[in-house]
Amino acid sequence: MKLKYHRQILRAALADLVGRDALLAIEAANLGQDTLLNQIGHDEYHFDNNAFRAGWRYVRGQMRQIPDALRRDRPREAWAAFGRLSHAVQDFYAHSNYVQLWLQKFPRRRRPRPTDIEPADFRILRHAWLRSGRLYYPLEALSFIPGLRRLIMPLLPRDSHAYMNLDGPEQGEHFFYAYQAAVKQTRRMFLLLLLRLNRRERGLFTENRV
Ligand SMILES: [Zn+2]
Repeated sequence: MKLKYHRQILRAALADLVGRDALLAIEAANLGQDTLLNQIGHDEYHFDNNAFRAGWRYVRGQMRQIPDALRRDRPREAWAAFGRLSHAVQDFYAHSNYVQLWLQKFPRRRRPRPTDIEPADFRILRHAWLRSGRLYYPLEALSFIPGLRRLIMPLLPRDSHAYMNLDGPEQGEHFFYAYQAAVKQTRRMFLLLLLRLNRRERGLFTENRV
């Protein structure tokens, strides 16, 4: 997903739940996952290449770090962990066919709106056809260069990241479903974390907003 959408999703999901320092620290860690060094060899950060098991393991690992960091009075570490896991969760909807499989549950004439999407539908999360885009390097890298994209796309398979990604609205209306699923799930995971914290830790994590 493009950085500006990661940023917008975080704001939509968390602006009323955390203070400014927390939001900026979460944002910095979230956007940091898309540096070149974090792109290559880290499918689990972005749910690329069908790395579903590794991706959720990574998310759970980051979740676990948060109460530990807060117990040691280190809110910055906790915010960074949440930033990293929120990036993965947001990319899950943008890089997989979750939205497509979810929409298939409904007849075309009764198509739900993007804001109706259920981001944690267990039947879809365990669906035998759940897939995420494969990165076919080096061709894939060239598809990111606007002038070359038109020439490279026909050479890439249909299960490539280039075809499957919902990284921006130019990918079609499914992007808007991925976006709303990402907002809802980011917020849900944050609220879930708050339940695991005591009052003092919650205050530290949210800058006394919750
Ligand atoms: Zn990413």
